[in-house]
Amino acid sequence: MQVNLYDILRAEITDRKIPLSLGKTCPVKCAFCYEKDHSYRNTVDTPMTTQEHWEFILTEIQKYPTRKDEYWVLGGNEYMEWTDLPLHPRAMDWIEEFLETTDKNLTMFTVGYVQPDRIHRLAEKFPGRIDLELSVITFGHYRTKLMPKGPTPKQVLEILDGPAVTSANFYSFGPGTMSEDAKTISRINQNCHLWMGCLTPLRYIDPQTTALMRQGKRWLASEARKVYNLDLPNKMMIHTESDITAFLNRNKILKTFDACELGKKDTVVMAGNVYKILSMFRRGRARFLYVPNQTLGGDSNCTTLLTFSDVGRRLSGETRVFLPKVIMERPSDEQLDIAGESFDQFKARFPRCQFRVLPKINSALSNKKLYEKGFLRNYVEGYLDHPLSKKFEAMPLPN
Ligand code: SF4
Repeated sequence: MQVNLYDILRAEITDRKIPLSLGKTCPVKCAFCYEKDHSYRNTVDTPMTTQEHWEFILTEIQKYPTRKDEYWVLGGNEYMEWTDLPLHPRAMDWIEEFLETTDKNLTMFTVGYVQPDRIHRLAEKFPGRIDLELSVITFGHYRTKLMPKGPTPKQVLEILDGPAVTSANFYSFGPGTMSEDAKTISRINQNCHLWMGCLTPLRYIDPQTTALMRQGKRWLASEARKVYNLDLPNKMMIHTESDITAFLNRNKILKTFDACELGKKDTVVMAGNVYKILSMFRRGRARFLYVPNQTLGGDSNCTTLLTFSDVGRRLSGETRVFLPKVIMERPSDEQLDIAGESFDQFKARFPRCQFRVLPKINSALSNKKLYEKGFLRNYVEGYLDHPLSKKFEAMPLPN
């Protein structure tokens, strides 16, 4: 099927994306990149953005009303492949034009491909309008393994040194990794948020990188405690561990589950993180259908990232199944999963089963909770120090 480029650009813009394209796959080739294999979803190949495309994009964006708390996103396109968009040779000119000619805010993601002087100058000229999320990943010796073609640490440090960066993300890969990076970043910039955690291996991540990510997970608690004890002035968040997030938000999960008023024989779908919470605190209150995140594979364990095909694989003759709404909330369309399958297509595959959607279990709720309880302090005090967290961690999942 022939797809019209301008239709794709319009669809991205509807989702508040600034859809630049490098016209090729990302040249940085990070070993941890979740976009390495995106075969689970369809993307459209688009040519490198030209001046003419840009004029179209900007004119379309200008038609949208400005909302005070809304950010237009450069990076993470919905229909096009993800790349580090500041690598486009005109990206900085166009970012400046966007800021000059609209009154809208901008979120941008990069591993460090903005020109330091220029981005700091823009941050000073347009205070509060640029949310630059810098993926530091690590400054330690694993950096060359993980991003052999990435920007130099010197370049990343120069971007950190000034007003531009809103948040810097970096991860645990073993002893003396995340904690050392927290010290380095905080020494240079006490205003940016520190976003820490560990990376979750998915099925297409190579074995060495997978082993490194798992090593990081094993050391996360001790690295997090070290950072906690440093008492740095930066705001400190810790993300990406869906089990931990679920544990920290257990009261809300339980309240939402109770409000769904399910019976003991009702079958309700969930991934491992919520399964562990409900098995621990609501055993026997419904039939919990544990669904592994097989589409993404690896160590993923998150209800938000389930797909219909994951659910389909676990059905075995049920006649009525309750589905959390969060599965079918791909931004552009309320009824699509992250792989692009629609709820109608899924239902047609199981004509004997009735599916009921649980609207209270939605992504607005999960995103809100992710941020509310996402502070390093929550993790250390509310999880590591909690008497039940060890038992929770050790809970097995069904086969
Ligand atoms: S720069 Fe970003 S998009 Fe490109 S390979 Fe690295 S993680 Fe992936």
